[in-house]
Amino acid sequence: MLGDMKRELPAIGFDRFRSVLYQIRNDGRFRNLILSGAEVSTFDELPRYVQFAASLGWFKKIQIQTNGRRLRDKDYVRHLIDCGVNEFFVSIQGLETTHDATTRVAGSFSDTVTGLRNLAEYKVNLIGNTVLTRRNVDEILPLFAFLAKQPISEMQLWNFFPMGQTDTGNQIVDLKAFSGLLPKLASLSVETGKPIVLKSFPQCIFAGSPLYFDSIFPVTVLPDLFWRQFGECGFGQCFYRNTGQCKSWQCWGLSSAYVQKYGDERELLRPIEREGEEL
Ligand code: SF4
Repeated sequence: MLGDMKRELPAIGFDRFRSVLYQIRNDGRFRNLILSGAEVSTFDELPRYVQFAASLGWFKKIQIQTNGRRLRDKDYVRHLIDCGVNEFFVSIQGLETTHDATTRVAGSFSDTVTGLRNLAEYKVNLIGNTVLTRRNVDEILPLFAFLAKQPISEMQLWNFFPMGQTDTGNQIVDLKAFSGLLPKLASLSVETGKPIVLKSFPQCIFAGSPLYFDSIFPVTVLPDLFWRQFGECGFGQCFYRNTGQCKSWQCWGLSSAYVQKYGDERELLRPIEREGEEL
């Protein structure tokens, strides 16, 4: 999503990190903490940040979001867990060829899968994260069947929101293709007993139990540059929202890039007429 912007975003810095966490604890807010970045495991001071967060004794979960490559190193995994990480959110963008093409690193799929297996030795929560793109749409089902066999507690499928008004990389998948996946994903979830979460797709396309629709994002600490660009992307587009017919408060709708590419999909979308219907 961030594209080239990730090179420009400054790191939070330890002093600010400490003061944000003190504030959270003092205010009695958020009990779960996510540490993320362009790739947080390339940040050599990560264990120090985790250790500080854990030392507060406040957070029930300390999650890192990672491409998982560095988790192939068993000593690194042990060190992170000793410092206090108890949840890993690992990105897997396809089966081997597709994943390696997406990351542009040969062997990255193998590294990540080794990392997943290394984590199986510990009592930590492991979540798989895949962004739906035109590159992987045809292999989501075999990929999720593969992931279900790994020591993962849940698989997440994320909608792709490009950070811009156009889909310059031609990676947005149309909603018909997405909805075609849902019955088989639902069967897979039942067969494997592994929950599947659909993140930030139009809520009215959501197929219902046993899949989970989720569009709620954590409160984030990000530089203004991110929010400026985010505000220019035109997320949250929906004909039915604009006309006041849909009362969903959590749906992200469509992105401008989607509407420009595939249209506003008003034939496919179905307004949620009563507030709370989505709950
Ligand atoms: S109709 Fe409502 S639920 Fe469907 S995409 Fe629009 S805002 Fe979301």
